[in-house]
Amino acid sequence: MQNWKYNHIDFSSYPFYGGDDLGVHTTGKEISVKIWAPGAQCVDFFVYRESEGGMPVRIDSLKQEKDGCWILHLGGNFKGLYYTFRVKNGEWMNETPGVDARAVGINGKRGLFFIPEETNPDGWELDQPIILENQVDAIVYEVHVRDFSIAANSGMINKGKFLAFTEQGTKGPGGFASGIDHLKELGITHVHLLPVADFYTVDERQPDSKYNWGYDPLNFNAPEGSYSSNPDTTARIREFKELVMALHQAGLGVVFDAVYNHTGYTRRSWFNQTVPGYYYRQNPDGSFSDATGCGNEIASERAMVRKYIIDSVCYWATEFHVDGFRFDLMGVFDIDTMNGIRAALDQLRPGMLLYGEGWTAAESPMPEKYRAVKVNANRLDRIACFNDDFRDAVKGHNFDSRERGFVSGRTLSEEPVKFGVVAACNHPQIVYSYVGNGGFPWAGEPHQTVTYVSAHDNLTLFDKLRMSNPDTDLATIKQMHKLAGALVLTSQGISFLHAGIEFCRTKDGDHNSYKSPDSINQLDWAGKQEFQDVFQYYKALVSLRKNVPGLRMRSSNHIRQSLRFSPLYQIGVISYTIEDYPGETRWKTMHLVFNASVRAITVDLVRPGRWTVIACESEIDLNGLRQFEDNQVSVPPISMMILVQRSEDSQ
Ligand code: CA
Repeated sequence: MQNWKYNHIDFSSYPFYGGDDLGVHTTGKEISVKIWAPGAQCVDFFVYRESEGGMPVRIDSLKQEKDGCWILHLGGNFKGLYYTFRVKNGEWMNETPGVDARAVGINGKRGLFFIPEETNPDGWELDQPIILENQVDAIVYEVHVRDFSIAANSGMINKGKFLAFTEQGTKGPGGFASGIDHLKELGITHVHLLPVADFYTVDERQPDSKYNWGYDPLNFNAPEGSYSSNPDTTARIREFKELVMALHQAGLGVVFDAVYNHTGYTRRSWFNQTVPGYYYRQNPDGSFSDATGCGNEIASERAMVRKYIIDSVCYWATEFHVDGFRFDLMGVFDIDTMNGIRAALDQLRPGMLLYGEGWTAAESPMPEKYRAVKVNANRLDRIACFNDDFRDAVKGHNFDSRERGFVSGRTLSEEPVKFGVVAACNHPQIVYSYVGNGGFPWAGEPHQTVTYVSAHDNLTLFDKLRMSNPDTDLATIKQMHKLAGALVLTSQGISFLHAGIEFCRTKDGDHNSYKSPDSINQLDWAGKQEFQDVFQYYKALVSLRKNVPGLRMRSSNHIRQSLRFSPLYQIGVISYTIEDYPGETRWKTMHLVFNASVRAITVDLVRPGRWTVIACESEIDLNGLRQFEDNQVSVPPISMMILVQRSEDSQ
């Protein structure tokens, strides 16, 4: 029996291998195989005709090499055949595709011999990544591959598949654009896909029988098969590339949801079946520690684990041209690993978009000071953290469905909302002791903060507002919904939208839909028709953000110098000016007012003179909705107003 307690082993004594040739490489004339398995007594390599079952057509033993590696070279054309490894570590471990497999057969149980160049769609060599001048220019749209197209009314043919993202001209109910045309219409800059690397819960033979978000990783370097037209072949690779290329052609970047913090299996994982214990942290009693709440946590601080993660991220960036990464439970990783990822990506393509969840789901044996959590955001190199203080302040706490937030009339939540306005940076007008858990400006610069109110986790914004305001009519809920969007898309930092927020997506009150059916999770495109006014407002907000540099300031110094909150406290009101921002050439002053109260309020303007209203209630128009001369303005209930003034119009 394998003893699964490894706390007695000094893993730092394991040899490091720095080469880039691990895994199985196929040319059509020969194969070369190399795996890192220090401590193994033997490593066998099996070749099969089938991706599951059947007898091996040959079995070879790998030869031990230096640095903990084992190698094998064989002549012949193996393309289209499948393989597994089996490691002897005291006893024989299970057969696995190894930890490096880039192509796998159905359900990811065996590796697939393939020639990478043959998976490139036509025109792939011309595909161009999306490069941002600054991370704060990103407006991210987070969507699950299946949810995007699976609804009967999506208008897309390749339902639930990567290829749905390549379909042009699709329409949903009412003839409104759906699919990629909808994304272009909304104007977002990046599509953040929930995990697209191979995961294990969904049976790829019957992808419609079970739903899952995909936070149960199996093969980190192969795309998920259930999203492809044929999971037993390289279709999953080619079709994901087609998705990337289609989004790039639409001017949209692709963000890869990186789930290296844990594996779906623990003892049975390919990691543990190859180098037992090495890839995971353990508790003092020798049990697997579980800061992810998923059964285990990856020991990113170990040299070969760190190399594994960095190599894998770089593989997705180079082979698949993805433009950014979102790190799931990033707080599990050590800071050096995250900065190592940034450094490696900078070598490939500077300025990629990186952000993550700056927390864990539970305690980790690794001390917090070493981990990539929000409070250490300033020690991370251009890697943003989600601002959950702002999220919870705007709509009410995530874990209490009944708690209201700023937009729904909760008072004394103004300070954490202001904290979000300045992207969690230091600002002299914020009382940080009122900001909640964070309690201090953890972001040094605005590009270190993701500003959002909802994501795939927890209730959708619409459900949250309805459940916390059960007696409120729909028209008012929609006003709150718009005000929340206005706060996200005018605040500093990286903007992040949960798919469907733009048309009041509901999951029928399901707060954790990770394995709920399509009926709950799908994007119901009827929402775009029903909530067309909400969609038009969110679209206008996106356009506003893209056209007004003052909403995307590059540095916290600029925010401190140009952004000034009204010194007068009014309950349920946030009012601030952006003045003399060097990047803003049109206007000397912008005055933004967010009135969350149920009655109109009067706000003093910073000075008299001629003011132009560019946003009021549901309307936004950069050319101006109306002009007036006064030193006060009335702001309607539950709405945002933006007023602007040119130098020559001020007195
Ligand atoms: Ca899978």
